[in-house]
Amino acid sequence: MKKIIGFIVAACLSAAAATSLAACSPQTQERTQYRITAAYDGGNTLSGEVEVSYFNSTDNALDSLCFNLWGNGVEGGSMEITSLSGGEWEADGTALTVSLASTLYPEERAEVTIAYTLTLAEGNARTAVTEHTVNLGNFYPVLCAYDREGWLSYDYADVGDPFVSEVADYTVELTAPEGYAVAASAVAGGTETADGMTTHFYELGGARDFCAVLSTEFEIATREADGTDVYYYYYDDENAENTLNVAAESLEFFDKTFGGYPYPAYTLVQTGLDAGGMEYPALAMISDKCDEQTAVYTTVHETAHQWWYAVVGSNSYTSPWQDEGLCEYSCMLFFENAPQYGFTKVGLLGSATKAYRGYYSVYNQLFEGADTSMTRALDEYAGEYEYANIAYNKGLLLFDAAANAVGQENAVAALRKYFEEYKYSVAPPEGLIACFAAYGDAEGVFNSFLNGEIII
Ligand SMILES: [Zn+2]
Repeated sequence: MKKIIGFIVAACLSAAAATSLAACSPQTQERTQYRITAAYDGGNTLSGEVEVSYFNSTDNALDSLCFNLWGNGVEGGSMEITSLSGGEWEADGTALTVSLASTLYPEERAEVTIAYTLTLAEGNARTAVTEHTVNLGNFYPVLCAYDREGWLSYDYADVGDPFVSEVADYTVELTAPEGYAVAASAVAGGTETADGMTTHFYELGGARDFCAVLSTEFEIATREADGTDVYYYYYDDENAENTLNVAAESLEFFDKTFGGYPYPAYTLVQTGLDAGGMEYPALAMISDKCDEQTAVYTTVHETAHQWWYAVVGSNSYTSPWQDEGLCEYSCMLFFENAPQYGFTKVGLLGSATKAYRGYYSVYNQLFEGADTSMTRALDEYAGEYEYANIAYNKGLLLFDAAANAVGQENAVAALRKYFEEYKYSVAPPEGLIACFAAYGDAEGVFNSFLNGEIII
């Protein structure tokens, strides 16, 4: 996500590697499959059914599956399970636990079908009916990621993005009243209209989520970027061509710099959103509150999330610096190479430093000490201001310092290595640090920033 705070945005690919990327196309690996059928009624309700064929890619025998019901985290909204087959189940807030009838061993599959009703909040949230759009972020029960600790089930957080999920293959049928255009994580393979309702058909491989945004007011601009179709759905943007171009140019830049963008299309969509933007696989939301410069910056930040969130996952609940700081650093690399947009490295580092020092000073005065550690989970932040300064501003300064420690060219090589090693998985923080450490003495830099010792 990119934050808007008081409306100030605070908020090793060798040829051989490129070949292995093609061989490792998101369509080809055995993984969990979602088949989602959902219908939006034109008001505040979406009725859905999700058939999940879970593939146990862990080394453990599992007795249960855990899902997150993010619709229960949004104020004014809810996600209610109406029926479930595949095991005994229990829902509690944003957590849904399904106890399997028999133990599921590694490389076996479990089939679970969940019927649910999503009641959409009204307001500028990820899952909500806004003035101009219907935001269907996190609109279905999604499997939690699984690691050494077990299932990673989190509560919806007041700050940041609690969404940690694993890559799966999606088949989606989304029905809405005729007249709604749908921006989604994939381009519709077709539509069917009957009785005033249109069903849109999608397939998306190798994605850790699927998102859609609906509106009857969308205009659509499109262009191609290095073999990827880039779309911009908007309803109020005098600079739509500029916004589309910066999305396409940053997609091309990150593709060449970090490694290949794997999806056939990338869609940017203007929405009502309190934050500046929000990332989903192959789709990013941009708030209609953004002015021209903010829209440019936020678009690049959200596009960077296609690498650092969508393809290379990380735990954005327990280590949000890992994707947010890296997206801020990626933005800086892009703008260094695209001076026409008016952002400079000196300017971006200067404003991050100034904002961070301001935060530090305020917290010191108000609370007799600022917690400068970066290893905090989302529920350990006092609010947006602290979170944005630690995860985004200090995150940018961290990656810049790590790049200075190994040299900027080596820093880019480290990020290519990180992309190659962790694409389609959830990377631990140590994995990212090790990629930098392979190119120089960067471990001390990471440690001193993360534990809060460094003085900025
Ligand atoms: Zn972000």
